Amino acid sequence: MKVAVLAGDGIGPEIIAEALKVIDVLRAEGLHIETEAAAVGGAGVDLTGDPLPEATLKLCRESDAILFGAIGGPQYDVLPREQRPERGLLRLRKELDLFANLRPAKVFPQLAAASTLRADVVAGLDMLIIRELTGDIYFGEPRGIRIEANGERVGFNTMIYSESEIRRVAHVGFQSAQRRNHRLCSVDKMNVLEATQLWRDVVIEVSKEYPDVELSHLLVDNAAMQLVRNPRQFDVILTGNIFGDILSDEASMLTGSIGMLPSASLNAGSQGLYEPIHGSAPDIAGKGLANPLAQILSLAMMFRYSLNRADLADRIEKAVEDTLEAGYRTGDIAMPGEKKIGTVEMGDAVVRALKQGHA
Ligand code: NAD
Repeated sequence: MKVAVLAGDGIGPEIIAEALKVIDVLRAEGLHIETEAAAVGGAGVDLTGDPLPEATLKLCRESDAILFGAIGGPQYDVLPREQRPERGLLRLRKELDLFANLRPAKVFPQLAAASTLRADVVAGLDMLIIRELTGDIYFGEPRGIRIEANGERVGFNTMIYSESEIRRVAHVGFQSAQRRNHRLCSVDKMNVLEATQLWRDVVIEVSKEYPDVELSHLLVDNAAMQLVRNPRQFDVILTGNIFGDILSDEASMLTGSIGMLPSASLNAGSQGLYEPIHGSAPDIAGKGLANPLAQILSLAMMFRYSLNRADLADRIEKAVEDTLEAGYRTGDIAMPGEKKIGTVEMGDAVVRALKQGHA
């Protein structure tokens, strides 16, 4: 197993260090896993002038998986668009054709009170949103702002999906549902948008290959409403790029804690990029306050989806849960009056739980 480790900026290196401690434990137990670090985002710009240096891209291509921290920072916001840290991540997704973005939204029972929704609505929530990541209105042409003959400005974008783009992400959706509770809800806006009528038609065609998965459909406006009305009705949600962008942020907030949520972006092989959903948190960077659990849970996803070691994924997830059960809290997930610990202590607690769970 070869893993590229791209820590990035801000809190990225701090939380990646904790995930590497988890890898060290598994390595000490005999796991053969090679890790190699490379610069990305602002760190790439500082080193080479490029947010995705050539050497980093080469390493990623040669790796089974990429463990990614976070990128960005106010000092880079003044750079020309091509040199901004975000460009590095977008290019990496495009270069490796990481078209399927998996975002679990799980409420750990110990943190149910941290949600802005009532605990009885979110307790036990465990869903997965799969968002198509490389197509749709975000990439469709033509796009732009033009000036009409009468002098008025008109902005326009193109929502476009090809059958093959829908088909490949639909397969990821159904296969993910097979690994979970065998229910897939496809979200579209077929009553108004032809591109999403095709989405629905193709998803139905693909469903014939997965008779053990129950398929349902929701229009996106209803899906947004159902997510806050009764989020536990969902197992896997499958949707396009723009709807997924919005719904996955909505779903993440049901859990109440941005520092807890991992994600995976997969291509047609088993290669994937694994990162927390949060950014580089410049406001707390360098202070040892960041919650490393989203990063550690991203590592668990990496074992599950790219490295074919669901057993290790289960163990890491269990160690995180045990750590929460034991009462350890970083500032972002502590309730008023609860003792807060820092990034390193949280990583240490997970390492201890991982070792104890194995003893
Ligand atoms: P952010 O996610 O970095 O931070 C939002 C808030 O959540 C902040 O108050 C932060 O302190 C807190 N937070 C985030 N992660 C945390 C953690 N692990 N533990 C504790 N608290 C945490 O979003 P932002 O402030 O809008 O963006 C900051 C920078 O990150 C920007 O440069 C942005 O472009 C970049 N960004 C990068 C990614 C990525 O790397 N994929 C994603 C989003 C934003």
